[in-house]
Amino acid sequence: MRNVEIAAKVQQVFEVREFQTETRSGKVGSFIVGDETGTIRVVLWGSQADKLSQLKENDIIKVQSAYVKENRGRKEVHLGDQGSLDINPEGESIGEVKKINSTRKSINELAENMQDVEVLGTVVQVYDIKFFDVCPECGKKTLPKEGSAICSQHGSVTSTSSYVFNAIIDDGTGNIRAAFFRKQVENLLKKSQDEIVEFRDSAEKFEQVKHDLLGKQIKIVGRVNKNMMFDRIELIAQLVFPDPDPEEEIKRLQSEKPAESSNQQGSVQESTDTGSVSSQPAPETEQSQTDNVQQSPVSESSEKPMFNIDKPDS
Ligand SMILES: [Zn+2]
Repeated sequence: MRNVEIAAKVQQVFEVREFQTETRSGKVGSFIVGDETGTIRVVLWGSQADKLSQLKENDIIKVQSAYVKENRGRKEVHLGDQGSLDINPEGESIGEVKKINSTRKSINELAENMQDVEVLGTVVQVYDIKFFDVCPECGKKTLPKEGSAICSQHGSVTSTSSYVFNAIIDDGTGNIRAAFFRKQVENLLKKSQDEIVEFRDSAEKFEQVKHDLLGKQIKIVGRVNKNMMFDRIELIAQLVFPDPDPEEEIKRLQSEKPAESSNQQGSVQESTDTGSVSSQPAPETEQSQTDNVQQSPVSESSEKPMFNIDKPDS
């Protein structure tokens, strides 16, 4: 997406750093902004990065002629010399910033009706995408009728394709079926709506996509729903991070660790070294599970790492 314009409120400002590659050198810096709909990182390149020192929390900024780039599954707004950044421009106001306030849970902690839970796990089973026709105006399912489609609210409409995708996610404590609807299918598969609709008529092409997803580690923010028909709980994805940053996740797990567990750091560190982050026990069961690790170090270290990481320095 090019030529993007946004106005938003500054949430957090990071330091400028200089970089040098074989072909170029320069400066880059970033900050987080938000509005009523969510938050996003703004990345400033070159001389734009000098403006970071003028920014402080809750400033309103307006960015013009920026472009959107995806980094590890998250969208970022990038601004180079040809763009502009105004700080506290007249006439701009931003409402209360919506923050994703999710709570990290292990899968065995999930229970019916939990909201805004965050799960980090591995895709262990995938299903075919299910397609259905929806009204372009209200998104409700339409019924086919004489070559057209009928929306119960909008009458005869030209329907568009919507889709749902299911996968089983495992984090070492248990597994759960996760459901991804439309936008989150696009986020998970990193494909556009048009690309996904193509699978509707060529299920065999989707086999490769399924194959590539298996074994991938993903992060999901969502809510837990009870599926009455199958008498089980399911995770409804509201936000998907298809490429969570391993280092960030480990730092986060460590920072969320309760202080009283610090005397067990040696054994917890051991499970971190295997790369099997999700096997890190939840706080309330830490004692018993940590004991298990000490009793059976062989089985722990023989687990296949989900990713290779350097030991975080903190
Ligand atoms: Zn409708």
